[in-house]
Amino acid sequence: MSNVVSDNLPDAAGHFGPFGGRYVPETLMHPLQELEQEYFRAQQDPSFQTELSYYLREFVGRPTPLYFAERLTRELGGAKIYLKREDLLHTGAHKINNAMGQILLAKRMGKRRIIAETGAGQHGVATATVSAMFGMKCVIYMGAVDCERQALNVYRMKMLGAEVVPVTAGQQTLKEAVNEAMRDWVTNIRSTHYILGTAYGAHPYPVMVRNFHRVIGDEARRQILEQEKRLPDLLVACVGGGSNAIGLFYPFLEDNSVRMLGVEAGGEGIFPERHAARFQGGSLGVLQGTRSYILQDENGQIQSTHSISAGLDYAAVGPEHAWLRDQKRVDYSFATDDQALKAFVGLARLEGIIPALESAHAVAAVWELAPKMSKDTLIIVNLSGRGDKDVSQVATRIKL
Ligand SMILES: *Cc1c(COP(=O)(O)O)cnc(C)c1O
Repeated sequence: MSNVVSDNLPDAAGHFGPFGGRYVPETLMHPLQELEQEYFRAQQDPSFQTELSYYLREFVGRPTPLYFAERLTRELGGAKIYLKREDLLHTGAHKINNAMGQILLAKRMGKRRIIAETGAGQHGVATATVSAMFGMKCVIYMGAVDCERQALNVYRMKMLGAEVVPVTAGQQTLKEAVNEAMRDWVTNIRSTHYILGTAYGAHPYPVMVRNFHRVIGDEARRQILEQEKRLPDLLVACVGGGSNAIGLFYPFLEDNSVRMLGVEAGGEGIFPERHAARFQGGSLGVLQGTRSYILQDENGQIQSTHSISAGLDYAAVGPEHAWLRDQKRVDYSFATDDQALKAFVGLARLEGIIPALESAHAVAAVWELAPKMSKDTLIIVNLSGRGDKDVSQVATRIKL
C-alpha cells in the first residue's frame, strides 16, 4: 500500500490521484508554470538548499525539540507522548518554514514584491517577517471580518512594514482574501511572488509547501530514532489546509508500521455550517485552483464553516490529504471546540505549554486515544504553534 502512496507524487500536472491539479484562469497558467520550473530548479540546487538551511537554523530557530511529555503521559496512563515543538519557532508557528522557503525562491526569481493571503493572521505575520528581513515590499490580503477579529496580528504585520488590505467581498474572510491575492498576482506578475500559506491551491503550491515543511518530519524521524531507537507507532497533527500535518507525515509515509491521524475542526459538532471537518460533511469539488474535498451544498455553493480556531476554519482541505485518505494511508478524525479547549488548558497545566487552539485539536485527539493504548506505544503530536494569540479568545469561554 505505502509504496503506491509515495511513488513521488504528484504527477507532472500536480495530481494526487484524482485530486489536485491546476484549475485556474488562463492568465494564471503562465505564472504557475514559471514558478513550477523555478521551484524544481531551486530544489535541485545545493546552493539554494544551503541558504535555506542557514536561515532555518539561524533565523527561524530549527531544529525544534522533540519533547517527551512526561506528565501528560502519566496523566493519560497509556501511550508515551512526544511533542514536536513547532511552537518554539520564530513568530510562534510552523508557517515560517514555508514563508522562508518561498521568499528565498522569490529572491532567486528576481521578484521584489511579496503578496499573501491570511485568515487568522499567522501566515500574514510570518510573510511580513521574512519580507522585512529581506527588504521586500509586502502586501497582505485579509478579510475585513478577520481584520477585526485579529486586530493584534494586523498591527503586528503593519509594525513589520507590511501593507494590510482588508477585503470586503462576500463573507469577508479567508476565501475572499485568496481571491484578491490571485487577482493582484495576475496584475503584477512581473514584480510579484505570491506566498500561499498552506498545502493547498494550484500546482505547484501543494507539493512545494509540503516540501518546505517536511523538515518537521525529517527532524522528528531522526530525533525519535535517537531517543527511542525505533519509529513511532502513531503521528497526530491538526489539519486546516494541511501543511503542518503533511510536513510531519510525509517522511514517514513509506514506514508501514507508522499510523497517522489528521484532526479536523469539529466545531460545535457535525451539523451544516457549524464545523470545518471536510472529511465529515464534504464532497469532491474544485475550489481556488485545486480539486479536493470541499464543504459545499448540492449546488456547489461553498458552505460557511465554523471553528474556535481560525487556522482550521476553511471549507476545503489540501489535495494530498484527500488522496492519502482515499488510499487509507492516513486516518482523519475531528475534535470539537470544547474538546480543543479542554486540551488547551490541560496541556498548559500539565506541561507548562500553552498550545495554539489549532494544535489543541491534535492534543485533544491524543487525549481520547492515548489512555486506550499500551505503555510501550509511541505517539508524536505536532504542536504546530503556541497559544499566546488565542489567550484573549479563550478567556471569553473559560473563567479562571
Ligand atoms: C495556520 C495554522 C494551522 C493550520 O494550517 P495547516 O496548513 O493545516 O497546518 C495549524 N496550526 C497553526 C498554529 C497555524 O497557525
